[in-house]
Amino acid sequence: MKTRIFALGATVFLSLPLFSQPKPETIFSTTSNHVCAMDLTDTEKADLLYMREEEKLARDVYLLSYDLYGMKIFYNISQSEQRHMDYMKDLLESYNMQDPASGEKGVFTNVDLQTLYNDLAAKSKLSLLDALIAGATIEDLDIRDLDNCLAQTGIDNIKSVYDKLNCASGNHMRAFSKQIVNQGGMYVPQYLSDEKYQQIIAAQHEKCAQK
Ligand code: ZN
Ligand code: ZN
Repeated sequence: MKTRIFALGATVFLSLPLFSQPKPETIFSTTSNHVCAMDLTDTEKADLLYMREEEKLARDVYLLSYDLYGMKIFYNISQSEQRHMDYMKDLLESYNMQDPASGEKGVFTNVDLQTLYNDLAAKSKLSLLDALIAGATIEDLDIRDLDNCLAQTGIDNIKSVYDKLNCASGNHMRAFSKQIVNQGGMYVPQYLSDEKYQQIIAAQHEKCAQK
């Protein structure tokens, strides 16, 4: 008796999918080549979060310096940093990751970047030359960090964003370095090797894809 009821139940169960099959278009529209955050390594995820806020640090320090000294270089480069922030935000969104960046200037989720911002903002307030040196310091760090990030991922769309940011950072570094010399100063690299720094300074202004 029990067996017969089970057999009947199984027949009903097996026949159900016939009536609940999804429409053909919904079967195919759910698949894509999209890489999920789950597919990123912890290092790749940490790098995306960090670079989003590092670009914000650059933008916020340059906006502060523009307010203080009104020198166009700070404004122009801050606009480029805003675009870099946007590229990083788009990447975070495409991997369904939460954006760590505060809407408030000078406020950071990453404690190391908060400390660095405080130091560089204080330095920038000292004089125009100090603000330009703070700028070169940020680009020096940015290029070093982007090189490290590039070495730690094999994902093409992430690499192309890092490449774009790196290219623009070289231009920014040359612009700050030139202004430092014009102001009678000199920049000594703190993160990059002397050799790499000299290479960047000697290079021509580059046209970076959608800098
Ligand atoms: Zn940047
Ligand atoms: Zn920059």
